[in-house]
Amino acid sequence: MCNTCGYTYTSVDEIFWINDAGHVIVKPLVKSTSAESSDAVIKGFFTRYYCYECQKFINKFIIYKKAADIDEGRIIQLIEQYDDNPKIIQFDDEFQRCLECGSELPSKASYSFAFDIGGEFHIGEDDYDFSKGEKFKFAGVYHGYYCSNCKKQINKFVVTENNAEFSDSQIREILEQHTNDLTIFIRRDFDICPDCGKEVYYLNRNSTCPKCRRGRLTIVGHITVN
Ligand SMILES: [Zn+2]
Ligand SMILES: [Zn+2]
Ligand SMILES: [Zn+2]
Repeated sequence: MCNTCGYTYTSVDEIFWINDAGHVIVKPLVKSTSAESSDAVIKGFFTRYYCYECQKFINKFIIYKKAADIDEGRIIQLIEQYDDNPKIIQFDDEFQRCLECGSELPSKASYSFAFDIGGEFHIGEDDYDFSKGEKFKFAGVYHGYYCSNCKKQINKFVVTENNAEFSDSQIREILEQHTNDLTIFIRRDFDICPDCGKEVYYLNRNSTCPKCRRGRLTIVGHITVN
């Protein structure tokens, strides 16, 4: 609830899936919906972001499960038809095709990585705490792939935190210093409105109120969904 104008907003963890008829279904993430969607060949997370520039909600779909034979363009098309709201459609970063032959590759290894405030680069160490965000200039998740057809390794770095507010080229330079073969680098520390190109935000405690744009949101309670 906004501490100034009283606007209220309910945030729910939601999932979506696409049924056999090609319809997108969005429901709260609970036991029953998890069971209901278990056979779906396309499935993912659904999140609502807010664009303060356009003053509207933006729906984000992250696909984390899909059958290998389903065309990605077709999935995007089906999701676009879901409603009239602007959408961000993203495939889970674990999905990767070979850059040469295009075949879908399984992730061989996934590790956390971080570039700390002391200028040290860490990746996958068991005795290092990758959850301490304030110690990092930037951090994220690494995925490694290998295409046995092309004998090609793919190293993918997904940046999820960028406390130092480094530019893309600064991040790339640091990553290149610490890996032999930096193939792919993706920023996931922010999302952009598909309509206006400005950053969108997840409404949470301390967010600026979307209605009066002066107050801050506070958490006034939790609801239970069964
Ligand atoms: Zn290949
Ligand atoms: Zn916008
Ligand atoms: Zn308000």
